[in-house]
Amino acid sequence: MNTNQHHADPDCIFCKIIAGQIPCHKIHEDDHTLAFLDIGPISRGHILIIPKHHAATLAELPAEAAAACGAVMPKLAAAVQQATECPASNVLQNNGQLSGQAVFHVHFHIIPRYENGSGLNFQWPAGSLSDNDAAELKQTIISYL
Ligand code: 5GP
Ligand code: ZN
Repeated sequence: MNTNQHHADPDCIFCKIIAGQIPCHKIHEDDHTLAFLDIGPISRGHILIIPKHHAATLAELPAEAAAACGAVMPKLAAAVQQATECPASNVLQNNGQLSGQAVFHVHFHIIPRYENGSGLNFQWPAGSLSDNDAAELKQTIISYL
């Protein structure tokens, strides 16, 4: 399929990479997805998987485009793991400026983690969930599905 047929934003840096207007270190390409090395890797082997369909955030992405990304994730994760011999990794996907998103075209990071702790570093401040809040939240979220 011609990449020009995908929904694109002419001002988007990742759409320009898809169109071949900006180079990348490509790892995988199919009709609906592209995967390449992150230019500013958090750790060695950090890659990005993107849908060819332009959408700024996950909530705006058509299910088919999301599914196409999901379909290639296991083999890309396995290839990165084998290539880098990383013992662990994170898949990260930021939505919105407050989350740390800098490029407003959906992308999934695969970030290797190494024994020495270099690279990605975040806290996981687990809270608590009351029965009342859980019941209300569950119903509200379901009502929007
Ligand atoms: P975000 O913070 O939006 O989740 O992550 C954006 C990522 O895209 C960053 O890790 C950044 O290094 C990467 N990035 C930004 N511009 C380019 C580019 O032109 N080429 C490549 N390969 N990666 C990019
Ligand atoms: Zn785009």
